[in-house]
Amino acid sequence: MNDPALLHGWRHVYSGKVRDLYVPDDTPEGASGERMLVVASDRVSSFDHVLEPGIPDKGVLLTTLSLWWFDRLAGGDGGRRIPNHLVADHVLGSDDTAHELIPDAVAGRAMVVRALDMQPIECVVRGYLTGSGWLEYQSTGTVCGIPIAPGLADGDRLPEPIFTPAYKAPMGEHDENISFERTAEIVGSEMAERLRELSLEIYARAAATAEERGLILADTKFEFGLDQQGVLTLADEVLTPDSSRYWDADAWRTGTTPAERMASFDKQIVRNWLAAAWVPREGEPPRLPDEIAAQTSARYAELLRRLTAV
Ligand code: ATP
Ligand code: MG
Repeated sequence: MNDPALLHGWRHVYSGKVRDLYVPDDTPEGASGERMLVVASDRVSSFDHVLEPGIPDKGVLLTTLSLWWFDRLAGGDGGRRIPNHLVADHVLGSDDTAHELIPDAVAGRAMVVRALDMQPIECVVRGYLTGSGWLEYQSTGTVCGIPIAPGLADGDRLPEPIFTPAYKAPMGEHDENISFERTAEIVGSEMAERLRELSLEIYARAAATAEERGLILADTKFEFGLDQQGVLTLADEVLTPDSSRYWDADAWRTGTTPAERMASFDKQIVRNWLAAAWVPREGEPPRLPDEIAAQTSARYAELLRRLTAV
């Protein structure tokens, strides 16, 4: 399931690296309809390349996890209700009309959502120091321009979670980290404040849920849009291993090397294999061994099990 499928009742309008978007096939060409079908494929990207083969069941695992989080954040974890883009109460196992709209060919990997007026900001929250944040911290003592206490190591918990927005680049271009001030210039200062406040709140709630299950939510990215009533609404995928870094809390506490501490539940296995097998930007990446794909799939499945099977 690596190419966008032909789906009865839906017209394919866009494919990102991982997801395929459809609109109802009676939507006039060029118009933005009210509804969309978001289909998560099994495609995996690394170093900006989509690799072959896909990761078995990845799209189903990502969709299942997104739906689980949307449901919890809609009040299921006791916090205030966070509005999301799902049509009706399309939750796992329900048999409502939104569910019936999903063609069998993509069952389990698709969501029917309300088409929103998206804010062009990737709302990144970091609770721990690693990746690009760690590189920046080592040279300037800041993460995305925010000064951070000295003396931290790769993988350490930040004194408090920080909001580090990125400008959502048009298709095919790289997202660009931007300051909070720049965010306010782009979306207005009131909206920038709301995005920051909501993002930090959702991160805190999700990190607490993860912690109860022996997991660390190191960082994550949200996207929001306005619905037709002007309500700021959580969109896209949420708190999946494609949009977040999850680590095992025990490994993080007891590990002595960064690799041991940050035993992640994402495509790190793919990244590691590729980094050893290929020089980025030199030709096309090699084909992933089936075993690497299978191991990655198992890692995604393990995260889903640990989070949801309580
Ligand atoms: P990349 O390949 O870099 O991830 P991408 O983010 O554009 O590119 P996908 O994540 O595969 O690709 O596609 C999902 C797209 O759908 C995103 O552009 C996202 O902003 C958009 N989107 C998600 N939910 C909604 C919604 N409810 N209304 C409108 N657009 C949405
Ligand atoms: Mg995306």
